[in-house]
Amino acid sequence: MEKESKQELEKSQEVLQDENSIYPVVDADLCSGCGICAEICPVDAIVMKNGVASIITDACRTCFACQRVCPMGAIR
Ligand code: SF4
Ligand code: SF4
Repeated sequence: MEKESKQELEKSQEVLQDENSIYPVVDADLCSGCGICAEICPVDAIVMKNGVASIITDACRTCFACQRVCPMGAIR
């Protein structure tokens, strides 16, 4: 029971963090793994991990080019 509520808390914190992120966020459920975002990123801040785009926030310049090109609308 306690473990469950801790997981819930962690999950809600994760969501909160995503919503407040100044960086683009990939929705893994929507990502098709096409890699277009990784190709377009001018600073190579996107890597593909297990068929899902992953943004390296340290490298990201928040240009949001990736968001505009994603055909799945998976980046917000
Ligand atoms: S462009 Fe969109 S669907 Fe394609 S890899 Fe990137 S996030 Fe995933
Ligand atoms: S916002 Fe721009 S710099 Fe950041 S990951 Fe997307 S394309 Fe790359």
